[in-house]
Amino acid sequence: MKIVMLGAPGAGKGTQAKMIASKYQVPHISTGDIFRANIKNGTELGKKAKEYMDQGLLVPDELTVDLVIDRLSQDDCKKGYILDGFPRTIPQAEALDAALAKRGEKMDFAIDVDVPDENIISRMSGRRACTGCGATYHIVYNPSKKGDVCEVCGETLILRDDDKPETVQKRLAVYHDQTQPLIDYYTGQSILKTVDGTQDMNDVFAAITEILEA
Ligand code: ADP
Ligand code: AMP
Repeated sequence: MKIVMLGAPGAGKGTQAKMIASKYQVPHISTGDIFRANIKNGTELGKKAKEYMDQGLLVPDELTVDLVIDRLSQDDCKKGYILDGFPRTIPQAEALDAALAKRGEKMDFAIDVDVPDENIISRMSGRRACTGCGATYHIVYNPSKKGDVCEVCGETLILRDDDKPETVQKRLAVYHDQTQPLIDYYTGQSILKTVDGTQDMNDVFAAITEILEA
């Protein structure tokens, strides 16, 4: 089961990807999480990625593509994976398809979690991210039972710098310009499935499992 999650920043890709990963026991691969781990560890990649992320821009394809392709060659990806936040540009999608084709494989599903722009700002300003394990909460829709700390690992929850409204506006513009064309790209491959991401997160998940098990 190889799945690409599509959708605007804050649409709920990560939330759903974690639920799918847990139900079907496949790895959840989030490029945003990989970049944030690199920033936290002070790596060269983290330093470079941060310059772009702080401005709401995409990290260049040259820093992103090989990272993901290498990750997909690891043993735990043999029975499939969920890509969350990758691809985000047409060249990334083409590089991914080329790497899969070399192995005689192809993507099975591209799931677009559809949420209109007007809902995105409140999703993002209410998102709280764990500085330890990357778990995600929302102050209204999915609060941590432990308040300001993570239910999973006990670390502090923060508002991500790039979730502040001014950066979110930029990220949305970048999404429409560079990432939304992937909807046509995967429609062309007949693997695009769209779910209504404005529903409760359990209802979104039910719609996704119906698609995966059809
Ligand atoms: P993405 O990975 O697409 O950027 P997230 O999964 O992190 O988005 O979700 C963004 C925010 O919205 C988080 O705070 C999350 O808890 C919340 N959220 C996710 N799905 C829903 C939903 N269906 N309804 C309400 N809030 C949601
Ligand atoms: P996310 O956690 O998916 O919201 O990603 C946070 C930020 O990381 C994005 O706004 C980008 O700056 C960067 N990023 C994540 N994935 C990619 C990607 N596939 N290509 C380019 N930049 C990315």
